[in-house]
Amino acid sequence: MAEETIFSKIIRDEIPAQKLYQDELVTAFRDISPQAPSHILIIPNILIPTVNDVEAEHELALGRMITVAAKLAKQEAIAQDGYRLIINCNQHGGQEVYHIHMHLVGGKPLGPMLS
Ligand code: 5GP
Repeated sequence: MAEETIFSKIIRDEIPAQKLYQDELVTAFRDISPQAPSHILIIPNILIPTVNDVEAEHELALGRMITVAAKLAKQEAIAQDGYRLIINCNQHGGQEVYHIHMHLVGGKPLGPMLS
């Protein structure tokens, strides 16, 4: 059984976050340390630590994460100019919180993908 992270507490409203969306599968909230004018994290409500832990049964929640990203990009008025969706995995990927999350980043030109 994977260990819960701070994101589980955000899902359950046990610690504050600027939540933008929540349904039975996913939750979206603003990143506490934004790297761009719009920086939102979209996470499954169930704990999947990394992309390496993804199973077929998670496909609905993972698909919903992209649907919600598209909805929030429109809501943030960044859809037309564009944005980036990022999922970091493990140490070399720069993952810090071991509860899968998709970064929705936009609101300025983002430059080259890899740094
Ligand atoms: P990672 O490097 O794991 O892909 O990204 C983790 C992200 O979670 C970082 O961008 C970090 O700022 C964000 N983060 C970490 N702790 C919290 C928190 O308690 N609240 C919110 N809203 N974001 C957090």
